Amino acid sequence: MFEATAAAASFLPAESARYFMGIGDPEGVIEVIARGVDMFDCVLPTRTARTGSALTWEGRLNLRNARFARDPRPLDETCACLACTRFSRAYIRHLVTQHEILGLRLLSLHNLRFLLDLVAAARVAIERGAFDSWRADALARLLRPTSEAA
Ligand SMILES: [Zn+2]
Repeated sequence: MFEATAAAASFLPAESARYFMGIGDPEGVIEVIARGVDMFDCVLPTRTARTGSALTWEGRLNLRNARFARDPRPLDETCACLACTRFSRAYIRHLVTQHEILGLRLLSLHNLRFLLDLVAAARVAIERGAFDSWRADALARLLRPTSEAA
């Protein structure tokens, strides 16, 4: 897919915006940006939220996991969204496991904010001419093995 994206992008005018339909995982978004894509559209952030999971710099967190039952931390320490600034992982887990729709809404808000912050950071890196190093650092953070990711 990434090879085909790079090949297709090379035929498109550089002054026009390039759109990729159906990519929403953080690693995939970074990879298609590297290949010249400017815009994305995907159900992944909200679909992932509806399954009780959060996209974070620690990887994807499944809030149904019992390890979050007493976790006072926000979904992502670096996120300024409503869910992260006001609620703990434990409370959001409680909402999700009790089938309270607020839990899934908070996860949707967080996942969308996470991706918006990710592409904003990519944009800044591109403007600074530092996208390649930003990309390497971002992928290393997203893909590093942690005991927290579920
Ligand atoms: Zn958040």
